[in-house]
Amino acid sequence: MPATSMDQLVSLCKRRGFIFPGSEIYGGLQGTYDFGPLGVELKNNLKKAWWRANVYERDDMEGLDASILMNHWTWKYSGHEDTFVDPMVDCRACKSRWRADQVKNGRCEKCGSADLTEPRPFNMMFRTMVGPVADEDSYAYLRPETAQGIFVNFKNVVDSTGRRLPFGIAQIGKSFRNEITPRNFIFRVREFEQMEIEYFVRPGDDEMWHRRWVEDRINWWTTLGLSRDNLRIYEVPAGELAHYSKATVDVMYKYPIGWEEIEGIANRTDFDLGSHSKNQDTLELHAHVMKNEHSTAKLTIPDPETNKPIVPYVIEPSAGVDRGVLALLCEAYDEETLPNGETRTVLRLKPSMSPIKAAVVPLKRNAPEIVDACKAIKRDLQCTGEMRVVYEDTGNIGKAYRRHDEVGTPYCITVDFETLENKTVTIRDRDTMAQIRLPIDEVYDYLKKGIAETFTRCES
Ligand code: ATP
Repeated sequence: MPATSMDQLVSLCKRRGFIFPGSEIYGGLQGTYDFGPLGVELKNNLKKAWWRANVYERDDMEGLDASILMNHWTWKYSGHEDTFVDPMVDCRACKSRWRADQVKNGRCEKCGSADLTEPRPFNMMFRTMVGPVADEDSYAYLRPETAQGIFVNFKNVVDSTGRRLPFGIAQIGKSFRNEITPRNFIFRVREFEQMEIEYFVRPGDDEMWHRRWVEDRINWWTTLGLSRDNLRIYEVPAGELAHYSKATVDVMYKYPIGWEEIEGIANRTDFDLGSHSKNQDTLELHAHVMKNEHSTAKLTIPDPETNKPIVPYVIEPSAGVDRGVLALLCEAYDEETLPNGETRTVLRLKPSMSPIKAAVVPLKRNAPEIVDACKAIKRDLQCTGEMRVVYEDTGNIGKAYRRHDEVGTPYCITVDFETLENKTVTIRDRDTMAQIRLPIDEVYDYLKKGIAETFTRCES
C-alpha cells in the first residue's frame, strides 16, 4: 500500500531522522525544513544522480556553482523585480494571507470568511542589505532561481571552455521564494534547492530541443524509481506562462495531495541573455554603465551555420530537489501485513537512492568476537568509499530489521557464531525478507551488484 496521506510520511520522516521542521525548538519558522541524518543522504543521492546523468554522462554540458547573492541589477533585467509576483488576498476577519489563485470558493481557508481583500501583487524575492552601510543601492536579493547565475556567467563559460552550440550549463543550488502560503510539507517551502540546466541552442532549433528535453527528463525520473504511471506532462496555457517563457511543459507527479509540478521545462528563448546584453542602450541605464553597475557584456556566440554572433535561445529543465525527495518518499512508502498479522512499514527506495546501503548486525551484542567481526566487515565495506554502511546494535535482530525496512536499507548483514567458524554471514533482502548465506569476501560484490546505478545515457 503506497503512502495514502502526507501525514504518514511526515511522521516517518520526523521519527526516523529524514526531515525535521526548521528551527523547531523556537516554535519553527514557517516554510523551512531541515534535512536530518538520513534526509541529507537521500538528498545527496538524488543530486549526485542528477549531476552524473546531466553533466558526466553527456558530452555537451558544463557544471557551475554561482553565488546566491548577485548584483541587484541582475533581477531588474531578468524581469523579476517587476514581474516575479503572486497576487495575494488578505482575510479581513482573521488577518491571514493567501495566494489568490489558491483561494477556493472565495472563502478564507482558515476561518471560512468571505470578507477578503482584492488581489494585490506581492513580490516573492527576499531582500537583504549588503555591507555595513545601508544606502539605497546596497541591497541584494536571495536568488529566487539559480538560472540567473548561469546567464551572467554565460560568457565566462564559453570563453573558458570554447563551447559551441548546442551546449548546456548545469547547476544545483539553493533558491528562496517568500511564498505567501507555504504548505504540504516540503512541497512548497520558502528555502529550497533547484537542479537547473540552461541548454543553449540555435534559434529555430529550440522547439525540437524542448521536446527532446521533456522526454529525457521524464525518463530520468523513472530511472530513480518513480513509476511512469505517476508522472505526466502538463502544457502550461499561454495565459499562465512566466514572463520569460515562450512555452513551458511541467512534469507532474501524483503526490498524495494530487498531481503537482516536480519539474518545469521552459523555452526561455533569448529573453535573459538578450536582456542582460541589450539594455545598455537606454538612457536610464547609461548612468549605471558609467558607474559600472550595468552589464555591458554582449552575451553572444557564433551561429553554427553562419558563424555570425547571435544571442542563443535556451531550454531550461528546472527540477526541485525537495519535490524530488518528496516524490521518492511517496513512491517508496509501503505498509504490508505479514502472515503473523503484524504491519511492516518499508521504504522501497531504489537501492541507489537508499540513505544506508547495508547495516551490519550482531546476533549478540555482548559477544566481543561477533562485535569485532561486525566492525571489521563494516570498515572493509566503508573504506571502498562507495556506499554508506552502518554498524547497528540498537536492539535485537528483529528490531534492527524493522528499523532498516522503515528507512529503506536494502540489505542487513548478520554476523553470528557460524561466522566465527567459517567466515560466512547472512544477508537479508529488504523487499523479499529472504536470507542467503555468503562468504564474507563475496559480500562486497553482492552489494555492489544490488545497488548498481542505472545509467541514463541521453541521446544528444
Ligand atoms: P509552482 O507553480 O508550484 O509555484 P513554479 O512553476 O513557480 O512552481 P518554477 O519556477 O518552474 O516553479 O521552479 C522550478 C522548480 O523549482 C519547480 O518545478 C519545483 O520543483 C521547484 N520549486 C519552485 N518553487 C518551490 C517551492 N516554493 N518549494 C519547493 N520547490 C519549489
